[in-house]
Amino acid sequence: MPSFPVLVLNSGSSSIKFSVYETGGEERTRLLEGEAEGIGTDQGKFHINDANGAKHIEQAQPLPTLATAFALVADALKSGKFPVPQAIGHRMVAGGPTVVENQRITPALIDEMERYTAFAPLHTPIAIFIMRESLRLFPGLPNFVCLDTWFHRTLPATARELPIPQEYSEIGVRRYGAHGISYESIVYQLQPNVPEKLVVAHLGNGCSISAIRNGVCIDTSMGLTPTGGLISGTRTGDIDPGVLLFILRKIAKTTQNASEAADKLETAVAKQAGLLGVSGVSNDMRDLRAAIAQDNVRARLAVDQFVYTIRKWIGAYVAVLDGLDMLVFTGGIGVYSSETRAEICSGLEALGIVLDSERNQTSKYDQARGAAIISAVNSPAIVRVIPPAEDLMIVNHVLRLLAN
Ligand code: AMP
Repeated sequence: MPSFPVLVLNSGSSSIKFSVYETGGEERTRLLEGEAEGIGTDQGKFHINDANGAKHIEQAQPLPTLATAFALVADALKSGKFPVPQAIGHRMVAGGPTVVENQRITPALIDEMERYTAFAPLHTPIAIFIMRESLRLFPGLPNFVCLDTWFHRTLPATARELPIPQEYSEIGVRRYGAHGISYESIVYQLQPNVPEKLVVAHLGNGCSISAIRNGVCIDTSMGLTPTGGLISGTRTGDIDPGVLLFILRKIAKTTQNASEAADKLETAVAKQAGLLGVSGVSNDMRDLRAAIAQDNVRARLAVDQFVYTIRKWIGAYVAVLDGLDMLVFTGGIGVYSSETRAEICSGLEALGIVLDSERNQTSKYDQARGAAIISAVNSPAIVRVIPPAEDLMIVNHVLRLLAN
């Protein structure tokens, strides 16, 4: 089978992450992973490692703009030192109401998705920029968009539609969900034994939870944007709309410009809220745990609220699924914070969730099996820790779309 390297691009607000997979037939081998981080600062870093962690490139340099950072990535990949990609997959949080299928990227498709920047305002402008640059810097290569919303396209109308006036639902204001590629990767890793009644909690910088029946998503916590649902590192999650109006009216006293006011409101609810807002310490669970160890009361409150909200959503999804076969933790907090998992699960015996505290503590998820069971032997529901495999899912979509 001839070698067919596929590049996966996953960009965030201050970093571009990427990986290259060697593919051919059923084979998917990660050859490289890399990151340009610290974008917008003069403290930028750039690295490319191989799959065994050996460093091929490691350098520090100013990365004043996204353009300089992406040029660095493209130059390295075209340098001849690495397998040259034959196709590119882009992670995209939300494509809007008209772009719901993963597909080949054209300039017209990028323009269409750009109309709905407000559906993922922290992510979309960056992803759009990288797509345009990618078409320019890798001319002739097929580029594909892989949407986080794709996994949630199966939501029934009751979960999908929002209780708002029709003039807004008609223009696409509804629940789209996010983290879909992560959820898809959990279902993929559970194959061929995907449980009927599955709840997956993706707890990372952004946090969400989904109810999945027989591998099909039937409800998810994020809404129109990734700001809804669970409390996240810097986002409120679901909140009384009256709070937004109160803040907006306060902002309106300082500016007559509606768009400026919207930007300030967005900063308040999406960048300064959540774990960071409540704790005043950090949005990072590691910092919060360290602060709690120093008896920081605000950090304790932030984590308690976080845990409490997730417990309520788990309960809601057990009701939605009419029972629970398996609960999976994923995302940085879900995979690495045994304390947080223990706090979430304690007292959920009535829902069939009984952790084995030793397994939970010692859970180093097993890379070979891709999963570790942390529930007690007598637990009615199985509880697992499974790291997401988003890049692999994107590679699979790229190959499927190319074959079509
Ligand atoms: P992600 O967005 O999935 O990369 O997850 C990032 C989050 O994972 C960070 O905000 C941290 O709070 C959390 N995290 C990563 N490693 C650990 C760890 N060892 N212990 C606790 N939390 C962690």
